[in-house]
Amino acid sequence: MTTTGLQGEMPREQRARRGGDRHKHGRIGLSAAFGRTPGEPEDEPRHDWTIDEVEALFALPFNDLLFRAASVHRRFFDPNRVQISRLLSIKTGKCPEDCKYCPQSAHYNTGLVREDLLEVETVLAAARAAKESGASRFCMGAAWRGPGKGFDQVLRMIEGIKALGLETCASLGLLSAGQARKLKGAGLDYYNHNIDTSSEYYEEIITTRSFEDRLQTLDYVREAGLKVCCGGIVGMGEKEHDRARMLQSLANMFEHPESVPINLLIRIPGTPLEGVDETDPFDFIRTIAIARILMPRSHVRLSAGRQAMSDEMQALCFFAGANSMFCGERLLTASNPSPDADRRLFGRLGLQPED
Ligand code: SF4
Repeated sequence: MTTTGLQGEMPREQRARRGGDRHKHGRIGLSAAFGRTPGEPEDEPRHDWTIDEVEALFALPFNDLLFRAASVHRRFFDPNRVQISRLLSIKTGKCPEDCKYCPQSAHYNTGLVREDLLEVETVLAAARAAKESGASRFCMGAAWRGPGKGFDQVLRMIEGIKALGLETCASLGLLSAGQARKLKGAGLDYYNHNIDTSSEYYEEIITTRSFEDRLQTLDYVREAGLKVCCGGIVGMGEKEHDRARMLQSLANMFEHPESVPINLLIRIPGTPLEGVDETDPFDFIRTIAIARILMPRSHVRLSAGRQAMSDEMQALCFFAGANSMFCGERLLTASNPSPDADRRLFGRLGLQPED
């Protein structure tokens, strides 16, 4: 496997998890996590978070945590701007993977209408409409274990969307190094590949691939020069420790993912997780806040599950540091708030789409 110059010959797991050298000597520790006063010099993002530090953030009183996260957010971003992406399922259902949350898995019977890979022109028409409605990024998801037949068609979609002046993101499953390079060559900006949960809880959710497989693809994506969109899901029956471990894994990657989608599980009938307990909204907001603190320069995306959130809950997520979301009535297969509802919410909160 090739590596970037900075990463040298370090084994992949170590590279993905390795902390940056900047903080080896403890210049920034718990005091930075809790006690930094706004107005002090800006901290560099860290890559060496310990699980104790992350769990200590989860243990903070809610108001203290949100104040801390909002303070970090304001140092790195305009807190009233939200990046807008549009997501389209370009191949729906019949996926050989067994992700327990997903209606597209061929392992579960959810009544989902399956669809073959869309034609290039169909996708480009959707991308044009997304651009007109204010999206700056067009994301495509295919229910594949990894790209096979149809990959060249996806490359043509990417070329066409780039020509429209939109950023592009694709989620196509596991990649080889060569496929990652071809995606880069076609003009892809971001590759989405979520780690979903902690490495320890991963096999409770997915058995057809490993956490390590995900890290492998993320390495290929970075090596190809693509930006990374990588996050997870809250509410799959995991413990707070798993949320902390998931965020620690993301934050201790050699480079933070540029986009960090935090999804709230949609409990879809027919999937094994349909009966899992509902997540306390404050626990979800805490996860957003801690993602913001750990990865201060990343866009933290409020992703799946917004349909079930009140406006007040979404407002708290934005205050806690979420600054990206999907617009449009559909995500891959699940419903999302209507563009009108989002426009009203933005108006009430004084939010603006990011350019
Ligand atoms: S989440 Fe993706 S990989 Fe998993 S079953 Fe659904 S479409 Fe397949």
